Amino acid sequence: MLEKSSKIVNIDKLGVCLGCGLCQSICGKDAVEMELRSDGFIHPNVKKILPEKEAIIERICPGINVINDINFGPNESIWGHIESLWSGFSLDTEIRTKGSSGGIISGLAIYALDSGVVDGVMQVGGDSADYERNTLRISTTREEVLECASSRYAPAHIFNEIFDILDKDSQNYMFVGKPCDISALKNFLEEFPIYKDRFKLTVSIMCAGMPSFQGTSDIVDAFNAKRPIKDLVYRGNGWPGYFSFRDNTSTVYRKTYNESWGTVLNKHLNLRCKLCPDGIGIQADIAVGDAWETKDGYPDFTEKDGHSLIISRSSQGDLVLKNAEKDIKIVLEPLSINKIQLMQPYQYNRRLKIGARISAFLISKRKKLNFKNLGIAINLRKVPFLVALREFAGTYRRI
Ligand SMILES: Cc1cc2nc3c(=O)[nH]c(=O)nc-3n(C[C@H](O)[C@H](O)[C@H](O)COP(=O)(O)OP(=O)(O)OC[C@H]3O[C@@H](n4cnc5c(N)ncnc54)[C@H](O)[C@@H]3O)c2cc1C
Ligand code: SF4
Ligand code: SF4
Repeated sequence: MLEKSSKIVNIDKLGVCLGCGLCQSICGKDAVEMELRSDGFIHPNVKKILPEKEAIIERICPGINVINDINFGPNESIWGHIESLWSGFSLDTEIRTKGSSGGIISGLAIYALDSGVVDGVMQVGGDSADYERNTLRISTTREEVLECASSRYAPAHIFNEIFDILDKDSQNYMFVGKPCDISALKNFLEEFPIYKDRFKLTVSIMCAGMPSFQGTSDIVDAFNAKRPIKDLVYRGNGWPGYFSFRDNTSTVYRKTYNESWGTVLNKHLNLRCKLCPDGIGIQADIAVGDAWETKDGYPDFTEKDGHSLIISRSSQGDLVLKNAEKDIKIVLEPLSINKIQLMQPYQYNRRLKIGARISAFLISKRKKLNFKNLGIAINLRKVPFLVALREFAGTYRRI
C-alpha cells in the first residue's frame, strides 16, 4: 500500500536511494526516519506519507536528480569544467599524514576556518567506538577537522538534520562531501534558496562508490577479530595507508588499501553507484582525489608521502587554493589534463560509458533519471558501439 503511493519508497525500491537523509529533514522524523538495514546501507523508513513533502523529495533527491549548472568548455566533457588543475599536498606534516591523500581537504578546511572565510566546516566524521556511526559534523577547530580526516568507505548520515543546523544560527560553511552529497546540497539550495549564501565553498572528494557496512564487516570477520572493535580506519596515516582496527583484546589488525578496497569493499557497492554520472565532483568548487603515480600504466599503491589531485572548478575555488598556497599552507604543482586519465582510470572509463548503464536502467526499470548537463551523451559517442553494447547488456543483466 505504502509502496504504491510513496515516491520515497519507490525511489528506494528502484535501488537508487543513497541514504542521504534529505527525506528525514524534509518530511520530519515522525514521517520518515533514516535507518541502517541488514543490507548494510541506510534507507528511509516511511511511516507516514506526506504528498506535498514527497513531491519536494522527487525534485531534490540526489539518487534521481543530478543537475549540473557549471557548463563544460571544449575538451571538458570527461573531467568537467577545470579552472585550474594541480597535484598538491598540505605543508603541515600532521595534516598530510592523517589525510587520505595529501591532506588537501583538511588543510583547506583549517585554512578556511583560521582565515575567517567560513565559521564552520560541514563534513563527515566517524566514531572510534563504533564504525557504523558516520555522521555529519560541524568542525570549528583544527582538532575537529583532523578527527574527520581520511576516507570512510561506508555510508554516513548526512542531511538528516540540515534544517536544525542551519536554523540554529547564521554561520557560514565550507561543505565537504562525495559528489552525490554536493548534488544533494545543490538541489536542496535550489529548493530553499534562503540558505544559499551560507555556503561559501563546496569541496568534493572523488568517489568510485560507497560500499555497504557489510564490506567493512567482511574484512573484520575474515580476521576472526573479537568484537567489539574500535579505532577502525579505512586508510590515512600514510598514502594510501592501511585499513586497520583494534579488537577487544587490543590486537591490531591491518590490510593494505589494495586488499581492502580492491578485493572486498568495491564488491559491496549499491546500484546507484554503478549508475553514477559524477564521481569526480563536477558540481563542487574544488574536487580532490588521489594523484596516484603510475607503474606499468596502472596506479601504484605502494606507500609514499601523500599527493592529492586537485581540480578547481570555480573562481572561488581558485581563490582559496591560491591564497592557501601564498600563505604557505599547501603546495600546488601544475598538472596536465592528460595525466588525470592515468591517475584515475576507473573514473575515466565510468565517465565514458555511463550513458550505456543509465540507458539499461531506463529500459529495465522504465524510470528516467534526471541527470542533466553532465556530458553523458557526448562521452558515450566516443565509445565503440560494441563496447557500449557490452556495458549496456552487463548492466541490464545485473539489474
Ligand atoms: C567512498 C569513497 C570513495 C572514494 N573513491 C575515490 C576514487 O575513486 N578516486 C580517488 O582518487 N579517491 C577516492 N576516494 C578518496 C578521496 O578522494 C580522498 O579522500 C581525497 O583524495 C581527499 O584526500 P585528502 O587527503 O585531501 O582529504 P582528507 O584531508 O583526508 O579529508 C577527507 C574528507 O573526506 C570526508 N569524507 C570521508 N569519508 C566520507 C564519506 N563517506 N562521505 C562524505 N565525506 C567523507 C571527510 O569528512 C574529510 O573531510 C574515495 C573516498 C571515499 C570515502
Ligand atoms: S532524498 Fe536521500 S534518503 Fe531520500 S530517497 Fe533520495 S537519496 Fe534516499
Ligand atoms: S559513486 Fe557516485 S553515487 Fe556512489 S557514493 Fe560516490 S558519488 Fe555518490
